[in-house]
Amino acid sequence: MFTEEASGVFGVASRFVDGKNGIVVGERAALAIDCSNYEDEGQAMADFIRDKGFAPDRLVLTHGHGDHIWGGKPLKSGDVFAHHLTPGVMERQVPQALKRREVPEEVIRSEMPWPTVTYRDELQIDLGGKTVWMFPSPGHSVDGVSVYVVEDKLLFSGDSVVTGIVAAIGDGDSRILEQSLHKLMKMDIETLVPGHGETLHSKARVQDWLQWQAGYLASVRNRLQDELAAGKDAEAAAEAVDFETYIGDRLPIDRNGMPKRHRNTVDKIVEELATDNE
Ligand SMILES: [Zn+2]
Repeated sequence: MFTEEASGVFGVASRFVDGKNGIVVGERAALAIDCSNYEDEGQAMADFIRDKGFAPDRLVLTHGHGDHIWGGKPLKSGDVFAHHLTPGVMERQVPQALKRREVPEEVIRSEMPWPTVTYRDELQIDLGGKTVWMFPSPGHSVDGVSVYVVEDKLLFSGDSVVTGIVAAIGDGDSRILEQSLHKLMKMDIETLVPGHGETLHSKARVQDWLQWQAGYLASVRNRLQDELAAGKDAEAAAEAVDFETYIGDRLPIDRNGMPKRHRNTVDKIVEELATDNE
């Protein structure tokens, strides 16, 4: 479950859609990055931090989507750092939990890792020998941030970058996500731990994937524009953006409901284009 990607920096695998959380251990303190969809995985992260000699009292959220926060109960007792839009995104997850669990809403709310420290632009934390820099990389969601461990040139991207599923737009915007990916391309990243999927282990692989993911969004949008301009309706335009051409062998077609994920992203971009024309 825990993979040491750099000295004291761990990718933490989740069983939820090839998910990835993180842990950074410094000389003076440790922090968790996201807390999984499941409480037992959040608990394992808290135990891991205790084994390293620290209290699990610092948590960084990459965004407020359910699968990154529901396991937070064991990790939420101290500071919770997040973008200033994250509490609003978390608020919108509550109905999902109410449907899934037969417990009162107060219980659900009391177990959620509500941010205690929020920021708009960026935030840096020095754990002692590990400088953790958080900055916005929105587009998958409005509140998306990435977390860079400066000494190790290692990036936890949250769902801004995903290597195990099709980039999802969710409640974000594909053009904003593209801008975020171009920003990440300019950074010096040797290791990238995505929100879902395998960790990327060299600068070349990181660049390749960032370019591919940005190119996917741009080429889907271009094709849709062409199809709509040629008079096709939304459904026919979306059909034209086939999995084989636009994803090919970049992602396994038989895993994580991939064709449906591709279609969801295509449909979201159709919606964006429709809104532009209103
Ligand atoms: Zn998400």
